[in-house]
Amino acid sequence: MRTIVMGSKQWYLYFNAFRNQTPDLVKEKIADFGQLNRCQMTISEALGRFSDFIDPSDPDVSFPNHLHGYQTAESLREMFPKEDWLHLVGLIHDLGKILFTFGEPDWAIVGDIFPVESTPKPETKLDDLVLSWGHDMYLYLVLKNHPQCTLPKIALDIIRYHSFYGWHTEGRFDHLDFEPEVLEWVQTFNRHDLYSKKHSMPIIEDLKDYYQGLIDKYVPGKVKF
Ligand code: FE
Ligand code: FE
Repeated sequence: MRTIVMGSKQWYLYFNAFRNQTPDLVKEKIADFGQLNRCQMTISEALGRFSDFIDPSDPDVSFPNHLHGYQTAESLREMFPKEDWLHLVGLIHDLGKILFTFGEPDWAIVGDIFPVESTPKPETKLDDLVLSWGHDMYLYLVLKNHPQCTLPKIALDIIRYHSFYGWHTEGRFDHLDFEPEVLEWVQTFNRHDLYSKKHSMPIIEDLKDYYQGLIDKYVPGKVKF
């Protein structure tokens, strides 16, 4: 079970999210950031940008965000040694928070995501659901539009939906149309995303070569953000 202890900062974030995340806003953000014209860098460079970035909105994490990526990745690697694509997903899943460096407000980057249209009909496909804009969808767009990205579809789905707690944890959208396998993977991922935060700090120097190999294998080259 996830327990949310909401401080006034989190409360204010959700207040703003519910107020501002409308279908029009989401459309606007996808059209704007979907141009991927902010900057170009390798995944390692993007992770480097994160090395001194502390997510101001995350009540569980008070250390630089890239460490959380390594913790999640290592936790997944321990459990699924052969699924190397999943290790990379762990490492990069929050890279969309780079939106903070573009001056975006926190409510348009982090927090749980939720459908912005009225109650979705049972036959609605998960992928057709209009969800609030944030770091999930942004990184999904970045990777999907990177020609050399060879991550499997499920990897991109994990990234796209990892903050959709109403679906993967609270079971409020079971009536939507989606592959059960997608839900299972997102749930598995989520356990490692959340609970690795309490683990010991990874020694990044020892891990760099392994993860560089995965970046070269699955997301090589300069990526457009
Ligand atoms: Fe996240
Ligand atoms: Fe995370």
